[in-house]
Amino acid sequence: MVEGEFVVPGDEVGVIEEFVPAAGTYARDGFVRAKAVGFVRVDALKHEASVAQAREVPLPRLGDVVHAVVTGLRDSVVYLDVFYNETRNAHYAVPFRAILHISEASNERLRSTYEVFGYGDVVRATVISRKPPYMLSTRGPEYGLILARCPRCMAPLRKRGLWLYCPSCRKTFKRRKIASRHYLLR
Ligand SMILES: [Zn+2]
Repeated sequence: MVEGEFVVPGDEVGVIEEFVPAAGTYARDGFVRAKAVGFVRVDALKHEASVAQAREVPLPRLGDVVHAVVTGLRDSVVYLDVFYNETRNAHYAVPFRAILHISEASNERLRSTYEVFGYGDVVRATVISRKPPYMLSTRGPEYGLILARCPRCMAPLRKRGLWLYCPSCRKTFKRRKIASRHYLLR
């Protein structure tokens, strides 16, 4: 188990040979398991595994507006880390993993997610599932990119009409789903 990983009751947090069950955990079948919904905490020195209860942090809920950074792309899915919940004004020190399917990216029909988002981009989205792994949607004009990065140098892109421009690479990029309010520099 990794420090900060999200767990639900019964999930394996560690093995008994390596860890002593601490707060929020119990031992069964050779494993330290989560007793609560929360995040794994590992104390390597004391060999303690515990679960910090999630209720200290307001979890994303169905319909919440969140901000997430793109961590990976396939043609039909985008992988993201949710780091801020706008609805509940909560910052997540340990981000929540989320998935955005191409059909939820835009009201337009898209061939590939690469047409709309790029690695390192920040999107404003709504949560459309009840629990992890969170499913997101950027349908609607208020949702989509709020910050885009250059795929070559990762510098924030500037908006130039319908195009995005990297001042250091002097290249333009097309991204089709920019939120109505964004932080793209002009
Ligand atoms: Zn660049």
